[in-house]
Amino acid sequence: MDDNSTRVNRDELTAWDRDHFFHPSTHMAGHARGDTANRVVTGGSGVRIEDRDGKVSLDAFAGLYCVNVGYGQTKIADAIAEQAHKLAYYHAYVGHGSEPAIKLSRMIAERAPAGLNHVYYGLSGSDANETNIKLVWYANNILGRPEKKKIISRWRGYHGSGIMTGSLTGLELFHNAFDLPRAPILHTDAPYYFRRTDRSLTEEAFSQLCADNLEALILKEGPDTVAAFIGEPVLGTGGIVPPPQGYWQKIQRVLKKYDILLIADEVVTGFGRLGSMFGSAHYGMEPDLITIAKGLTSAYTPLSGVIVADGLWKVLEQGSDKLGPIGHGWTYSAHPLCAAAGVANLELIDELGLVDNARDVGAYFRQSLAEALGDHAMVGEVRGEGLLAAVEFVKDKDGSKGGPVFFDAALKVGPQVAASLLERGVIARAMPQGDILGFAPPLCLTKAESDEIVAATKGAVEAIAAKVL
Ligand code: PLP
Repeated sequence: MDDNSTRVNRDELTAWDRDHFFHPSTHMAGHARGDTANRVVTGGSGVRIEDRDGKVSLDAFAGLYCVNVGYGQTKIADAIAEQAHKLAYYHAYVGHGSEPAIKLSRMIAERAPAGLNHVYYGLSGSDANETNIKLVWYANNILGRPEKKKIISRWRGYHGSGIMTGSLTGLELFHNAFDLPRAPILHTDAPYYFRRTDRSLTEEAFSQLCADNLEALILKEGPDTVAAFIGEPVLGTGGIVPPPQGYWQKIQRVLKKYDILLIADEVVTGFGRLGSMFGSAHYGMEPDLITIAKGLTSAYTPLSGVIVADGLWKVLEQGSDKLGPIGHGWTYSAHPLCAAAGVANLELIDELGLVDNARDVGAYFRQSLAEALGDHAMVGEVRGEGLLAAVEFVKDKDGSKGGPVFFDAALKVGPQVAASLLERGVIARAMPQGDILGFAPPLCLTKAESDEIVAATKGAVEAIAAKVL
């Protein structure tokens, strides 16, 4: 192709993108008008992606915290291709399956916390959480308690953007003008110690307050009407907030008291992100259901799952003895290509020692971030766990001891820092609620790459602080 025809194709692609591609989480009018960039990503290797203009960026958010093994892993690509040549598809209904789907189920059960041994597959974190709610309702009907159906989620929790899962999500952006949340979903406190109103509380006391408020909500609604509680081990999209000291122990005490199931949404934390295989084990959670997606295939194909604990599984078995085959299934459940990607991905995580790397390089990364930025006037908190980290920006660190004062959202301080960082060659995510810069790099990150991220972030923060402080 000569230069001219290449340019025409590029222009065409840009026009088609603006005219026909309905992008998720995008300002639609702005994109159609050309206000926002249309970045066409063409390749990736390790922690870096490349776009069609040849611009290379260090992706410190692993796509959407999902490309955990890094870009360009041929082992996974080969596994997908090999399975596609052998058998691209057969369904999983009525006891059918493919070898990779069976093998993957075994591998997940081996890695999951004790007593979680049965995997149902979907294609996204959202549909897996949808499955969770249906299973909880189904089980309570089988157990003869049809009133016990309400689900409690947390403000700032993120569990997807379907009708049910968007209702579970506790972020305004995902509710506005969609008539969400829908009943029977209730929200309780976000375990967000940095933003607590009573500044005198210790972490333990704040966790106790969250547990007390949860118990008060359950009592107000009637314990016989509350079926399950769903939470991410570390709040993710809501701000990347690790739980305060004692949080999960205190919450679980309340749930057990009222016979309420626990759903651990490990779409982000599953398979190594926190430096341990599962966040549930990391924080001593004993869930009845675990949601998995993202890190299950490192996003080389879409695949999600629900891991069911043995106790709940027994109830589901009773259900089918009573009602016949469960009326829940999708064409692409346990798709062989996705399962093949999952098997290769989990093998690769082990071969490359990525869980340990997330723990060790994660500790180094978070410490370096804290050293570089912790004392900066615009930085209220540097926090995280494993290779999940956030820097939260404030106008005033302690507002004459009344706690941090936040910027006016219209100033878009978080997005400004993210944009400045991108100019410096590093991708981080401006989290959707608050001025929070999120990091979730591929788990193969090296210390040298960590240094690169930290240096660029320092530069970006200083540049934006000079404008807004
Ligand atoms: N749950 C959590 C914790 C997530 O972070 C996400 C997505 O970011 C989801 C569920 C929804 O997953 P998906 O976007 O694949 O539907």
